[in-house]
Parts: sequence; C-alpha cells; structure tokens
Amino acid sequence: MPETNGNVTKAMEVMEAGLTRQMQTWMAVCAHCGLCNDSCHYFLAERNPKFVPTYKTDRLRLVWRRKHEWFGKWIPGFVGAVELTEERLDEMAEIAFRDCTLCGRCVVNCPFGVDTRQIVRTMRAMATATGKQPEILDQLADAAISREENLEYFKEFYLDQIKDIESELREETGDPDAVIPIEQKARVLYVPLSGKHTILPAAAILNAAGESWTLSLFEAANYAVFLHDIPRAKRIAERVINEAKRLGVEEVIITECGHAYSSYRWMVPNWFDEPMPFKVRSIIELMDEYIQDGRIKVAMIDDLGPITIHDPCNLGRNGGIYEEPRRILRQIAPDFIEMTPNRQNSICCGGGSGLVANLDYENERLAAGKPKADQIRKTGACMVVASCDNCRHQIGELSEHYELGVEVTGMAELVMKAMLIAKEKETVAAG
Ligand code: SF4
Ligand code: SF4
Repeated sequence: MPETNGNVTKAMEVMEAGLTRQMQTWMAVCAHCGLCNDSCHYFLAERNPKFVPTYKTDRLRLVWRRKHEWFGKWIPGFVGAVELTEERLDEMAEIAFRDCTLCGRCVVNCPFGVDTRQIVRTMRAMATATGKQPEILDQLADAAISREENLEYFKEFYLDQIKDIESELREETGDPDAVIPIEQKARVLYVPLSGKHTILPAAAILNAAGESWTLSLFEAANYAVFLHDIPRAKRIAERVINEAKRLGVEEVIITECGHAYSSYRWMVPNWFDEPMPFKVRSIIELMDEYIQDGRIKVAMIDDLGPITIHDPCNLGRNGGIYEEPRRILRQIAPDFIEMTPNRQNSICCGGGSGLVANLDYENERLAAGKPKADQIRKTGACMVVASCDNCRHQIGELSEHYELGVEVTGMAELVMKAMLIAKEKETVAAG
C-alpha cells in the first residue's frame, strides 16, 4: 500500500461524497470509443492526446476503479487502476482547472451520455478541498462574500458609482428623468456584473419597457461555482436570493453572464433543495419578450456591418437559449451571419469556467481558443455578439492574438442602440 497523507485522504473523501449513482454510471460506462474527441476545442486546437476528454476524466476514473471495481481492486495493473497520490492529485488539479472549460460539447456528442463536466467538477472539488485550486478564483470568491459582510462600506461606493451611471443614462437616452432604482420593491430584480456595460444599457431597456425593476446590490458572478465549492457558492448566491425575497420580486433577471445564469437557473434550486419564490431568466429572454410584445421599439442599425453570434456554452448548450438572441438580431442587424457549427454544437471560446481570470494559464487559453478564432474568421464578420462577459473577454483577446480584427459586444448594448435609432426615426417622421 502506498503511503497516504492528509491531502490524499481528504481528496478521497470528496470523491466518495460526489459518487452519486449517476456519477458511478458515468465512471463505469465510458467505452473509450473516442467519439467525443473532436468535440473538445483543446484537442481540435492541438491534436494532442492529453486533451481528449477521456484522458482528462481517466485521472479520476482510474482512482475510482482501484477502489470500486472488481478488476481495479484485485488486478489493478490489468485495467490501469491506481491509488491516489499527492503527485496524481497535483496533476488532477492542473488538468481540471487548465485543460477543461466544462463546456459540455463532449457531453452532447457522447452516445452513452457520459457527463465529463461532472467528473471534472469532482476533480476541481478535490483540488479545492486540498488547497490546490488557482489562488485567484479563491480570492474572487472570498471578495464576493466580503462585499456582503462589509455591505455598508461597499454600498457607499456603489451608490456613488450608480449615480454617475444614471447621469450618463440621462445623457445617452435624452431622458432627464431616467433613473436606476436600487433596493426598491419591484417586479424584477436585475443582477448585473461589476461594470457599467452591464448596467447602463439594461437600465435604458428596462425603463423604456416601463418595467417595475430594481438593481441588485450584488454582482451576478459566482467564482465558487468554478471551484466547485458548493458551501461557498451557496453563500454567494444567497446574497441575491435574500435580496430578491426581501424585495418580494417575481423575477430575477441575470445580466449577460453565462455561469451566473446557469447557476441561478439550474444549480440554485438543487443547492437549497427548495423551489425559489421567483423565476430566473436571462436579460436576453426578457429583451426578446419586450421586442415581441412591442414593449420596446427597435430599428435596424444600418451601419453595423456583418455581424455574427457566439453561443456561450452556459446560455446555449447548458441553458437552451438559442432562438431568443437570433430573433433579436434579425430585428436590428441587417447583415447577420451564422457561425458553423452553432447552437448545441457551438465551439467553446476557451475562456469559460474561470480560465479568463487566471493569468497563469493565459497561453493555454489562447491556444485552446484557436478553433473559435478560425470559426469567426470564416464568417467574415466585423463584429461578434457574445452574451457572456467571460466569452466577450476571451474573444476580444482572440481577436488580438489571431488578428481577426473583430469587435465584440454584448446584446443589450446593441438593443439600446437600436432603440435610440427607432426613437430618432419616430421623431423625424413626426415632423
Ligand atoms: S465519454 Fe462517451 S464518447 Fe467519449 S470516449 Fe467515453 S463513451 Fe466514448
Ligand atoms: S467539457 Fe468541453 S473542454 Fe471539457 S473535455 Fe469536454 S469538450 Fe473538452
């Protein structure tokens, strides 16, 4: 028996705790058929066998076999089963945080339904429990908790910042009475990211629709989700949940952020094991609804040029939001070009799951983004819509790195522009 230390014991406990019946099935049924290999953008970029999904998941599967399968227990060498060691745990941590963005493209292309994301998430949880996680993700998760613990201090700065954005909003929309309500009873709680680009256009749209809304005191991002640290992820999400309950809102609307949408929509009800007293939607769904219902008027942005759309993995493949952004684009973009493949088979940009925040893996991230860069180049577009801040950041960097010459934008910014053009046209027509 190899020597075990505290980290190995702890990591094994985390593995055991994550072994639901479904997880055992995913561990057992992988036939190593390789049908998922070409789904992975890392593998597509470099054709290196260490990037095939099963190479990554086997770092855990072989440990699981040693403990839970007959062959693994009695003739481990026959199936390659191994004991977990500190070195294997180090390797597992690196692979889980560097070589997989949890994009899920391999999952939809596996005939056996093996959920590679869940296996890699368990590897991340094992790394986090033993202090082997990327420091920056840890710091960002702690910063979110500290914001709530020191709310009075942060609130003062935040309210000042919102006042400045409100002045800009009035100037840009030409509406001297435009406001950004905070901490008010309303129908909708809008949860932004920390950045004007996620507040100002959304405020213009919500106001134009005559929505009863209020801005969250907290940002939508939840870095503990990337660490697969559920207690901390719950704590971060709880800030918004409590705020929504306190204000009695009917809907929580998440800004253009993939992982925040996916966690509030799909993970939160499981974490808290109770239905939430509000609906969760993305601002993309709400903007589409406003346009369809005629609550906001938009016009074609004639000088936009050729534009394409990237389906963020968490909104599209993991969230099912495909048609809403396309319906919006068809109303405002005269030259909209699809990337191929798209929707369920969209290629990951390579920046998700905490990768863009981690400068240590910058080279690997840019290398893994090459298939996305090639896809964008083929469209001939000069602009890409990416309704996720991680994707937006990554595609911006890919544009620079691979000299694509494209601008990246969020959808709300475009919709706001299209609304202002419609308003201007109406004024001109009215004489
Ligand atoms: S995960 Fe699915 S597609 Fe990939 S090798 Fe295993 S069985 Fe085949
Ligand atoms: S989830 Fe995405 S990044 Fe991870 S192995 Fe599968 S295809 Fe590759």
